[in-house]
Amino acid sequence: MNSPYPATSAARDAWILARRPERNAVSHDAAYGAFIELEPDAAGVVRTVATVLLSSRECPYRCLMCDLWKNTTGASVASGAVVRQISAALGTPPLAAAGATTIKLYNSGSFFDSGAVPPDDYGAIAALLAPFDNAIVECHPTLVGPQAPRLAAMMRGSLEVAMGLEVADDALLGALNKRLTLAMYARAAAFLGAAGIAHRAFVLVQPPFVRPEAAAELAVRTASFAFEHGASAVSLIPVRPGNGALEELMSSGDFSRPDLATLERTHEAALALTGGRVFADTWDLGQFSACASCFTRRAGRMHEMNLTQRALPRVACAACGNNP
Ligand code: SF4
Ligand SMILES: [Zn+2]
Repeated sequence: MNSPYPATSAARDAWILARRPERNAVSHDAAYGAFIELEPDAAGVVRTVATVLLSSRECPYRCLMCDLWKNTTGASVASGAVVRQISAALGTPPLAAAGATTIKLYNSGSFFDSGAVPPDDYGAIAALLAPFDNAIVECHPTLVGPQAPRLAAMMRGSLEVAMGLEVADDALLGALNKRLTLAMYARAAAFLGAAGIAHRAFVLVQPPFVRPEAAAELAVRTASFAFEHGASAVSLIPVRPGNGALEELMSSGDFSRPDLATLERTHEAALALTGGRVFADTWDLGQFSACASCFTRRAGRMHEMNLTQRALPRVACAACGNNP
């Protein structure tokens, strides 16, 4: 580490908070985003997925790479607010009449954090989820507990929990201020498995303190760890600057934005594990590309690989020399 990044969790919390830019204005009464995407389910059937980005209280953790706090409310939302947000989003384009059979409810933190989503709302939320075969919520592994099977028991369809595993390396998890160990992740995964609840893992591609040449190998090892602990899918998240802390670590040489080739190599190798589905996160993918000539084709290939779960031939590009 070259930066004055602190050594203790408490000091890291303060250091990370001090570098934050402004939060966006987010209403308690409306989800802050909603969109439709296609995603194959565990049987390979391509499903229409409705994603609702819920407005709720900020996550209590302070992970070094996180920028999800930008779209959170300052205070906890009142009972009933999340229910109204979901109901309104489902009744409005693009989700209305989209025919989605899977829904993702992402709240920029942990769904089972009672300060973010009041447990009293679960019954009404489950009723809204009745048209969907599968619902996916996100949660820090240490906040996974009895509330998950409680919600699952109220639902017609199945519940799946998305957990940030991030990196299969305890020392690095500590440096990322994740407040997580691999044993804690394994415990949460086993708990969900015993309750018959599926889970998927978020895996970071090139987090701080990882050299670019080591990034793909670490992410694939992390995906492998997730699959060994029962994950049915992994989402590969290329680490993006934007939260202030990462910009400072960029200047000190402790972080660099991954390039598209690193994400592509990771995607191919994680698929080759054949442990479960692998999704490369393609949001704002252009920031990882250095070549306008091949970017659209490479992004299209990645989308296609996400849908088919098969590696496709790499895109050759004379302009940047990709895959000569
Ligand atoms: S647990 Fe998730 S939402 Fe919370 S700070 Fe960490 S990365 Fe962000
Ligand atoms: Zn190119």
